[in-house]
Amino acid sequence: MLARPSCAATTLIPSEQQKIIGVDVRLTCPSNQPVASQDRLAACLRRASRSVLFPSSDEYTAKKTLCNRRRDIEPFPRAIVSAGAVTEVRRAVACVAAAKAAEPPRSDSRLHVCARCGGHGFENDAGCTGGVMVDVAALQAFSIDAETGIAKFGAGHTWGQIYYKLAQHGRAFPGGTEASVGTAGLMLGCGRGLLTQVHGLACDSLIEVEYVNATGSLHRASALDNTDMFWLAKGGGSEFPGVATRFTVRTYAMPRLVVKRRCPTRQVAALAERWMRSLDDGGDHWPADLPSFSHVAVSRGLPGAMLEAMCFDCDAAQLRRFHTSFDAVVAATKPPDVLACGYPGGNSSWLQTLLQEPGSGGGSADPRKLLLRKGAVPWKPLAGLNGGIMVRSGSDLPTLARLAQGLIDEPRFRATRDNPWNDMYLLYPMGGRAARTEETSAAYGSGRDSLFVFHYKHQWKTVGPDASAEHCTAVRRHQQLTSALAAASGCKSFYNYINYDLTCAGNSSDGWFQAHFSDVPRLRRVRSAADPGYVFHSYVTRARSPCVCAARTAEEKAVKAATLTRPRKGGATGAAGRAKAYPHRESMPRGHRVAFNASERGRAGCGHPRKSLKALKLLRARTDLSLVPGFVRGPPMATATHGSQPMQRHRQSGFAMPISCSDAAVTWNWASLSGLKNPSYGRCAVLDSATHIAAAPLEHHSAPVCVDHLRGVRELNSNGVPGHSVVAFTTHTYRPTMCEGCIKVTLPLHPQILPHTTELPHFGPIGYTLSGLPLVGSAWPVWNGFIQKQQAWRGHGGSPETGYLWHYHHPAIKSDPTGEYARPDELIGWAMDGFPIYGPLPAGDDGALDACNGRIANGGYRYHVRRLEAINLSLPYCRSHGSGWATHWSLILGCFHGDVSRTTISQRSCLGW
Ligand SMILES: Cc1cc2nc3c(=O)[nH]c(=O)nc-3n(C[C@H](O)[C@H](O)[C@H](O)COP(=O)(O)OP(=O)(O)OC[C@H]3O[C@@H](n4cnc5c(N)ncnc54)[C@H](O)[C@@H]3O)c2cc1C
Repeated sequence: MLARPSCAATTLIPSEQQKIIGVDVRLTCPSNQPVASQDRLAACLRRASRSVLFPSSDEYTAKKTLCNRRRDIEPFPRAIVSAGAVTEVRRAVACVAAAKAAEPPRSDSRLHVCARCGGHGFENDAGCTGGVMVDVAALQAFSIDAETGIAKFGAGHTWGQIYYKLAQHGRAFPGGTEASVGTAGLMLGCGRGLLTQVHGLACDSLIEVEYVNATGSLHRASALDNTDMFWLAKGGGSEFPGVATRFTVRTYAMPRLVVKRRCPTRQVAALAERWMRSLDDGGDHWPADLPSFSHVAVSRGLPGAMLEAMCFDCDAAQLRRFHTSFDAVVAATKPPDVLACGYPGGNSSWLQTLLQEPGSGGGSADPRKLLLRKGAVPWKPLAGLNGGIMVRSGSDLPTLARLAQGLIDEPRFRATRDNPWNDMYLLYPMGGRAARTEETSAAYGSGRDSLFVFHYKHQWKTVGPDASAEHCTAVRRHQQLTSALAAASGCKSFYNYINYDLTCAGNSSDGWFQAHFSDVPRLRRVRSAADPGYVFHSYVTRARSPCVCAARTAEEKAVKAATLTRPRKGGATGAAGRAKAYPHRESMPRGHRVAFNASERGRAGCGHPRKSLKALKLLRARTDLSLVPGFVRGPPMATATHGSQPMQRHRQSGFAMPISCSDAAVTWNWASLSGLKNPSYGRCAVLDSATHIAAAPLEHHSAPVCVDHLRGVRELNSNGVPGHSVVAFTTHTYRPTMCEGCIKVTLPLHPQILPHTTELPHFGPIGYTLSGLPLVGSAWPVWNGFIQKQQAWRGHGGSPETGYLWHYHHPAIKSDPTGEYARPDELIGWAMDGFPIYGPLPAGDDGALDACNGRIANGGYRYHVRRLEAINLSLPYCRSHGSGWATHWSLILGCFHGDVSRTTISQRSCLGW
């Protein structure tokens, strides 16, 4: 039998789920450890800083929100520390380091520190899901040596703030263009901007970085001291194992006059190719020694492409060369097809130039606008994918130019009021001082000798009915473009325009690192030595790969249908009636049952149920549930109305239910319907006979099904609410309640058939539908007679009445809400071992199925549900079949034929859905 955990009295808390259905609480006592360590971490963080937010705080959502609103990277930190001073950063890091040291080493632990500065990281790495976000925005110290021009500034500045402060001393810095981008993220990623050709990449001007290391102590790194960390701070990006608190940099005389030109044209390819060639030594060389900047922008807001250029404090000779080069590029459009050339605002000062950049000041002439950009995130709630390929001399420039043209040739790109897209391609020059800097001087990737960076953004609105479809469309388009760009130019990427889906890197993490960093072995060495316990998040050891939308197959169509399902008003009505008979309870072999009556439960390990309830209240009172990542305060679950009646019902009935045929049922499945040990719920709705879910305050949400080829997993994200109308089951003595249970399920992408089979759990998920709802076995509903009486049907084969989470027992499930059986070739979902589940075979063909309901079809193993009438429910539940245990009641599955140990289910927050 399963081992009985030893639980201390106050923590013997059966979950609400267990209380309701009366599952053997011995199997599900939560261990003391997590609660205690969460308590300790919360207390430590509260001592560390005056400003700590947990998910239950009102301001949490606003504070955690980062620039990119892509749903798959929405951040859910377990706490946010807004550090008012460096000491607070140190204490917060020390708290996490202590908590990490106390937790058992787990490779999938998400407890990390992530620093946040401007919140503009393209992949929301500062978001720190499951970890502690340390916001450094309040670190605003600033000083400058008037003689040397060396400036020291706190790592919380945005570029707007720094540009403004430097301007008071007549100085400038080669940072980024947009005022709201954070200095820390851009410096560490070694970003670029208007002055890159003149003064190099941002990190080329770094003299010293002060940072808090993985143990919470303060250090400095420079070219003379702590040189490895200095090297890593120059382009290591999110791999930097510390929180930067202060930068010391070389600054430059601020340009007094910026001469500007810009011309839009519809002939994107011609303009882009000529501009590319003008950067190349082989072409009409755009003078690399000229103190200038030029770029080509292709964007939805433009009629085509825009050539834009600036000359900083240029003398007459330099201006002549500047104009000649500009005119030569424009002349490439034949006949010169230029629309209104000019520059609104004309030639201007450096600060005015910055204010004209998008997202910097709205074209205002008031330079204080720059100062006030405090890392404010987005003016527009856009989700986005970014990529930045470095293009070297010798690349296939005509193809690259055609790819740029491709953006405006797409019909979907046409500007309409409802168009959700906001895509743009930006071509930025390298060369000049950036190219003259020794590559090995920085962790920043090889590619300094490139001609330019092809930065591409696919952005879309996150609201509206088609958000999921837009995500998939954008992912696909982005990948296609990445492949095409890489084929034409080589696999080098600009770190700050991060692209995890660098297809030319062979989808390997090593390839990805090589595309971004100058010396990967050194990076690994330095990182591991500085932070062996992974207090800071890192991709170097844990491969990060893109979650791509499922392949373009029939499977995808089904996925799309499921993920786009919307709740509908109205719906089926269902029969109801309490099941009083338990016709099959005697069919279980003795010894494989557990009785649920009060006295047995009392001995079962977690104490008397009343004591447990009391203990639960106690625990609630002293535990900050907000520390549970993703916890959302829903209605109280242990109320008399919802909690005690079902429990009593089962206590009175004292019936028995099987728990195992083989003693080897998968233990995690015992925890709860969601598969989680201590599920927390989002919003809940009490249903009555008139309540359809569509009318309840709950809506189905699921992210597009993701296929992660690098990790070899398929990922489902859902809020656990069905995307179809349901009818309440009203004959229970309590009112059925349905809640959001937001989860992420990770299934093996390439499951293998094992020589033996694994018994299904009697309770908990055996698989998931395409829209991320649990499929549950037949033990419980057949045992109770619900299935036989079609009472588990209630619309679409599901039920919320136990455990608050909607789930399906009945085999008549489809990806769309018709309540009929799916077709034999219609994908319903995936089993916990990763194999797909399809609709039932035609009547009489069930002989082709093995004991698990599986067969080989189209070169792969798959399950098929069986029609209810094809199953003899009077046979005993357990069925020994030589290679393991299965069930005769194999409505959805009979057993697992693959490995379920690689599947994980984790809680995610319902926030944002
Ligand atoms: C609208 C927009 C415009 C942009 N323009 C440019 C541009 O002109 N040039 C350019 O090169 N890039 C540009 N970028 C890219 C940008 O530089 C990077 O995304 C950069 O990482 C953002 O830094 P942040 O501090 O704003 O972001 P954050 O999201 O706060 O941080 C980004 C990364 O840096 C880490 N980090 C932040 N602060 C610290 C710290 N104190 N210590 C250690 N790690 C820290 C975070 O943990 C995260 O990994 C732009 C991005 C956007 C969205």
